[in-house]
Amino acid sequence: MIPYQKFQNYLNQELDSIRSAGLYKDERIIASPQSSVIRLASGKEVLNFCANNYLGLSDRQELIDAAQNAMSSRGYGMSSVRFICGTQDLHKKLEAAIARFFGTEDTILYASCFDANGGVFEPLLGEGDAIISDALNHASIIDGVRLCKAVRYRYANASMEDLESQLQAAQAQRFRLIVTDGVFSMDGNVAPLDQIHRLAEKYDAMVMVDESHSAGVVGKTGRGTTELYDLKGKVDILTGTLGKAFGGAIGGFTTGRREIIDILRQRSRPYLFSNSIPPSVAGAGIAAFELLENSNELQDRLHENAAYFTGKMIEAGFDIKPTQSAICAVMLYDARLSQEMAAKLLDEGIYVTGFYYPVVPKGQARIRVQLSAAHKREHLDKCIAAFAKTGKELGVLK
Ligand SMILES: *Cc1c(COP(=O)(O)O)cnc(C)c1O
Repeated sequence: MIPYQKFQNYLNQELDSIRSAGLYKDERIIASPQSSVIRLASGKEVLNFCANNYLGLSDRQELIDAAQNAMSSRGYGMSSVRFICGTQDLHKKLEAAIARFFGTEDTILYASCFDANGGVFEPLLGEGDAIISDALNHASIIDGVRLCKAVRYRYANASMEDLESQLQAAQAQRFRLIVTDGVFSMDGNVAPLDQIHRLAEKYDAMVMVDESHSAGVVGKTGRGTTELYDLKGKVDILTGTLGKAFGGAIGGFTTGRREIIDILRQRSRPYLFSNSIPPSVAGAGIAAFELLENSNELQDRLHENAAYFTGKMIEAGFDIKPTQSAICAVMLYDARLSQEMAAKLLDEGIYVTGFYYPVVPKGQARIRVQLSAAHKREHLDKCIAAFAKTGKELGVLK
């Protein structure tokens, strides 16, 4: 028996148990650009309501042109980390554009926001410090915190009462950092940053917000939670992704106080030991931020679409989680129902995802709808009509 055989048996058992729990993840193959209308590998065309393509930039011509121009003028890849020979003018320009967008002092790019979060805690905080983290924070924040020796405190999602008691418990530590997602991706709720900021001042803590789902989305001009709560430049650390609203290719960033970013350039491991983002991505990223600096059209349209959709869904009788983002959770509670309804919606040409335990709490199954500036009114109407039809068929609506 070869050494792998025993392990292979074990893996097959694991895979079987994932399958029998109904939790096996299949990839769904798309044979078109990412957009509001996509063509599946089967040839079927559907309306897409499950991408993080909030501003419709994933297939935007200006970004494609900018990526192609950057590739022509700066090549395909960097073959280096940033500090050896992997920094081009484009990387510096993109970092400056991100800082301008958020009203922060400096920015450091990463290959992803997963890397940004993985590399932010360990260089800054140590054994004698405290990280106070929202219970529903993204997996990459949880992993990043694990890599750091600081004492961990956890507070219930967006509960300011619990945050306050955790801050009191953390008073003995040298430095305190509160960390939260800007928008929580399963409900679409925004972190109460105004209250978090007040508690942080009261208990001498710094604040970090992961703006992955809020940047480009939340706030009148899409500058994120610090715009919504009028705290631009007052949050110490922001992390975010280029993989959602800003074109959806790849890349992440940490932006905030000058010295923090400076230390990250010296010590952050995913920055020091992983390759630079390619010129095409940097070039298209610059174009994305230019587009958003020069016009508020996309942000306005997204806000209009989100308000229209949630309003009509509530009118139709659906149970919708209160949302301040482009995420609209249609509550169904029952896991099987969420899967059946998503399947029926796909038959109707609407592409959405049903989520259930363990992705959301038990008995809290739902279909998550993600709105985009790229959705036209007729797309929204078709989606709402399909929800109403399938909702009646499945007894969700009376
Ligand atoms: C999507 C997401 C990430 C990961 O971003 P990538 O750039 O895809 O690695 C991190 N944090 C939050 C809150 C996210 O939603």
